[in-house]
Amino acid sequence: MSDKDQSLFIECQCHGEGLGVDYYADDNHYYFSYWSRGFRNGKLSFWQRLRYIFYVLFTGKPFNDELILDRGSANELYSFLKDIDAKNLEEKYGPSRKN
Ligand SMILES: [Zn+2]
Repeated sequence: MSDKDQSLFIECQCHGEGLGVDYYADDNHYYFSYWSRGFRNGKLSFWQRLRYIFYVLFTGKPFNDELILDRGSANELYSFLKDIDAKNLEEKYGPSRKN
């Protein structure tokens, strides 16, 4: 962990899921994680499986890991990524660089 590491969490518009973004300065990578309430690592319970089967059956979508961002959330994500990138450019090329 570095003091330059940063994190962001954005909730889906349906309030059922969320997007986590962790930036680790040491390797200069962004980790995007999907958070769904009720689902965790490991086996699903019988009712979770049944719920998932019905989800696929009625929506035709083989996934439920979709996030809906409104304009404000999308801007928040954009600003988060842009600010980190701007700081990295400033470190690399100096404070006079504009983007
Ligand atoms: Zn959602």
